[in-house]
This record gives sequence, C-alpha cells and structure tokens, in this order.
Amino acid sequence: MRTKSFVSKLNQITYALLSMTPAQREVVHQSIQALDTEIPTDELIQPLFDILSQCPHCHSTQLKKWGKAGAIQRYRCNGCCKTFNNKTKTPFAKLHKCHIWEAYAHCMELKLTLRQAASECGINLKTAFLWRHRFLMAQAGKNDDKLSGIIEVDEFFLAYSEKGSKTITLPKKARKRGSAIDKRTKEGQVAILLSIDRSNHMINPILSADTTTEIAANFAANIVDNSVLCSDGSWAYVAIAKEKNCDHKRLINNKIRVVDKAYHIQTVNGAIAHFKSWVNGKMKGVATKYLSNYLAWFRESNAKLDKQQILAAAYGGQQHYGT
Ligand SMILES: [Zn+2]
Repeated sequence: MRTKSFVSKLNQITYALLSMTPAQREVVHQSIQALDTEIPTDELIQPLFDILSQCPHCHSTQLKKWGKAGAIQRYRCNGCCKTFNNKTKTPFAKLHKCHIWEAYAHCMELKLTLRQAASECGINLKTAFLWRHRFLMAQAGKNDDKLSGIIEVDEFFLAYSEKGSKTITLPKKARKRGSAIDKRTKEGQVAILLSIDRSNHMINPILSADTTTEIAANFAANIVDNSVLCSDGSWAYVAIAKEKNCDHKRLINNKIRVVDKAYHIQTVNGAIAHFKSWVNGKMKGVATKYLSNYLAWFRESNAKLDKQQILAAAYGGQQHYGT
C-alpha cells in the first residue's frame, strides 16, 4: 500500500475506532489478534532500508533496482556503480536462515542462554553465538538515552574475563596500556556506570577508569538540565550536578537510604544486582570483550523491546557497520 493511501486509510480507521464503545473496540482488538500479525523479517528490514535509501559503500542516494538474487532485491549505486542488497554492511550481512531470526529475537527478548536459544530455533551453538553478537553489535556502546526527572546513578565492577578465549593472556601482559580491551581500573576489574531515571531511561557505559573525569565524560551529556540527581557520597557527582544545575541528593550515610520519601538509589542498585546475577549466574560469566554487547542487551530488556523491535535495533542502519 502506498504511504498516502495508508495514511488516509489509517485516518478513517482511527475515526471509526473513536466512535465505538469500549466493548466494540475490544471486539476489533480480538479480531486483530486472531489474525497472524507477525511481519516476515524482510518486510521488517525493507522499510528500515527505505528510510535511508542510500548506498552502503559511498552513501549516495542515487540508487536503482538491479535485479534479484533469488528472492532478494539487489540495488546498484549510480555514484560508485557497486551493487548491494538491504543487508549489505549491516550486522545482518551474510547471515543465513533469516526466516528464523524473529524466533531468535524472541529468545533474546526472553534473555535465554545460548543452549536454550539454539534448541528453541533448531540451530547449532556456534550459530546461536554468532547471531547473539551480531544482533547486539549495532547497539553496543550506544548510550544515548537522555535521563531526566529523578535520576539515580552508581558504579559497579565486574571481574575481567577472557571467557572462551583459546589463548588466555596473563594478567600483567593483558594490562598493557593501549590495549583495545584494557578497561580495567582495579586489579582484574572492569568499571561500569549505571544510571536510570524514574521513566526507566537507562545508560550503562563501561568506564576506562573509575575517575571523576571518566564519569563526567560518560554521564554529564546524558542528563537533562535541572533534574534531580541521586548518588552515593562519591565526589565525582558533585561537579556534574553543579554543571547541569541539578538538585543533588547524596545518600552518604548508609543508615539513611531514602530522603524525603522519594530520593534514593535503590532502583539503580536493584538494576545493578539484576545485571550481575544475570551475567554471572544465568550466563555463567561473560568475556570482557563482549561486555558492551551484554550491557546493550540489558538496556533492550529494560526498555521491554519485543522481538520485532529487537530486530530493528539489531539492523541499526547501513552506514555504520561491518561488511
Ligand atoms: Zn555508492
């Protein structure tokens, strides 16, 4: 259906729905649920491609359709003359069995283990592992949520891990400066900041050091001015609260956990405990090099993304990712 006629149909339907009684609307609701409303994966991806409608190689928007490879539409760029499809240079590039991706995304929605997801989807563990990290790579490290109102923040540490690595690096060697995965501050620890507001917006960046500068660099830009910031006694947050003109509630004394009945850091500490028990318990520990993927997964779960939203988030957009 063309966009114009869809909009006009949608207006008619909305008008009709508004004129119904709640009971009549419930009948319509049930009829819609009875339909198979699942969108095939390619139908979900195509509109995301169409929004940008650009060449993944040179970003030109001068494209034309260039035949099909099997059922898959190919395009050719008028600028660089290269051909591509709607998955080229996205995290979905060269992944097979796209008819099962939605079922896999559902396993991610349920935060299942690799073994559970593999069994659920009829794929092997290697594929389940590849898909998990491809589905998360677009959102990894993308902590762009804006926090406002009452904001809670705290830091926590996870043990550095080379889980799954065939060549375990000795701690001293691994701590060499400049290493891409050198995220530890304390001996064998990775520092993570977690902040959440009362509307459930969340960020959870990995800190390269648990310092005032690093906390400010990963947190200040996400706070809306004139919010209320709840933190522990750490001095790092005093300057940030001042800079962002926030009312700062410091929960310094362990005996006083709630100030004025509303200001506390129990939500953020609950989220931290939840994350730790998920990765260390159910997931049996995660490799530090994949930690930003698990943090992205945790944000998606916190935002209650459904399987189709998980797929859309995984697609990310053609301009950013691998080949
Ligand atoms: Zn091009």
